[in-house]
Amino acid sequence: MLEKIMNRRTMLGATGLAAGGLLLDGGAAHGLTWTARRPAAPDEAWARLREGNRRWAADASIRPHQDLARRAEVGRRQEPYAVVVSCIDSRVAPELVFDAGLGDLLSVRSAAQTIDPLVSGAVEYGPAELGTPLIVVLGHQRCGAVTAAAHALHEGTTLPGDLQRIVEALRPAYKSARGDVDKMIKINSTQAVARLKAGKLLAPRIARGQLKIVGAYYSLDTGQITRLV
Ligand SMILES: [Zn+2]
Repeated sequence: MLEKIMNRRTMLGATGLAAGGLLLDGGAAHGLTWTARRPAAPDEAWARLREGNRRWAADASIRPHQDLARRAEVGRRQEPYAVVVSCIDSRVAPELVFDAGLGDLLSVRSAAQTIDPLVSGAVEYGPAELGTPLIVVLGHQRCGAVTAAAHALHEGTTLPGDLQRIVEALRPAYKSARGDVDKMIKINSTQAVARLKAGKLLAPRIARGQLKIVGAYYSLDTGQITRLV
């Protein structure tokens, strides 16, 4: 029964793609195998995220894996194919902008996707414990946290409470970007990628080809995600 529901769902997904004129990269064939297995290789996982984002940007989301059947399927075992490290921003919800669903993504969010040991530990969990083949560090256009940090660093002011910790975490990107906020957002993501890549737990997996770490940028205006590194 479960399989029947899933087949019906994936058929609907494929039909939806065709109807929307979005048969990208053999999309129909891909849609039919949607629920069969998770992408095992890093490039395959990135391709699935990219396809999902194309649908999102074109207002043609199929909202996969968001039903009762999927809930039952992943209730006892999860196999997410990507870890997405992104900002807390309410406009950059990973499952929406990648048109993914339940059990697909491990989502780690912090202001301006800043990395500290607790965040990197959470990121490492996917590849180390669940064999997740891809990590995406996703920055975004007009990031409020980056803008506020740039302003504070420019003015030499100190933000109240723990907000100042975010400012300090963004200081290296601020220095490299020389005051350009959009550049700072991108540099911050590429620096986070470099930091994660250097981690002792992840580096051997990257060397063996089991894991890739990608830096990316989300446009609030277009809904499109572009790869930075
Ligand atoms: Zn942000």
